[in-house]
Amino acid sequence: MHRIVVVGAAGRMGRALTQGLNAQTDLSVFALVDVHDPGDVEGATHVAALDVLDPSRVDVVVDFSTPEAAVVSAKWCGQHGVDLVLGTTGLSADQRAEVESSVGENAVVMAANFSIGAVLSERFAAMAAPYFERVEIIELHHDKKVDAPSGTSLATAEAIRHSRANAGRVTAPEPTERLTVDGARGADGGDGIRIHSVRLPGLVAHQEVVMGGPGEGLTIRHDSFDRTSFVAGVALAIRAASSRTGFYFGIDDFVA
Ligand code: NAD
Repeated sequence: MHRIVVVGAAGRMGRALTQGLNAQTDLSVFALVDVHDPGDVEGATHVAALDVLDPSRVDVVVDFSTPEAAVVSAKWCGQHGVDLVLGTTGLSADQRAEVESSVGENAVVMAANFSIGAVLSERFAAMAAPYFERVEIIELHHDKKVDAPSGTSLATAEAIRHSRANAGRVTAPEPTERLTVDGARGADGGDGIRIHSVRLPGLVAHQEVVMGGPGEGLTIRHDSFDRTSFVAGVALAIRAASSRTGFYFGIDDFVA
């Protein structure tokens, strides 16, 4: 049995994960860390911070909170040899470096998107991208999301850049010479990849990778319709972490 603590447990993801992970026979969430009281969730106990817990009782911390809290979780896990599955996005480069340098005898699995469908969509996009002249990404999320562009879109852009570079595919210069409204071409995802962020009520997490070449186009779309879509990937990461040490970015290697 993997004994789990969820950080950010009162949040949208924390609640969905606590319920979803507890439904698996080999996983048990026994403590809920949050600055807000999540109320009674699956009988697990609420605490305000990780440092009141006995680390010898914790196998893995699952953190879906804020970048600041995620760094605190990473340090606590590194100090006590507890595995960390980290889903919080929007970390600065310094915060990401702090997370990586906190790894000790434990494993840290950090991913911008724990949905298996999203992992496969990134894989398929990287596979297809060298065969097309231009690639753009449209990411669509709920209107409470505080960071843009999404971590998933940045990771997808990185995977595409790598695959295009490995294939020797050079992107033609940006065609737009005159912008009549700033930002009309979206954010710069590197190598000519433009990233467009949409925020609307009713959405959860969606992404389209749109590719174009002479006479043809290809769109790879993934939809997370609700937050249960992240449970299987988090469970996969928990199980993978238990037999590893070190830092892992993304769950691609664990999806056979
Ligand atoms: P949310 O705002 O609903 O929840 C965040 C929770 O963190 C809140 O309950 C808040 O009280 C808590 N919190 C804040 N400071 C804290 C602290 N110091 N210690 C403990 N808890 C603290 O947000 P959400 O929609 O649940 O998303 C949380 C994070 O997960 C975001 O960064 C989001 O982008 C990310 N996310 C990642 C994935 C993925 O697959 N990697 C999927 C969905 C969301």
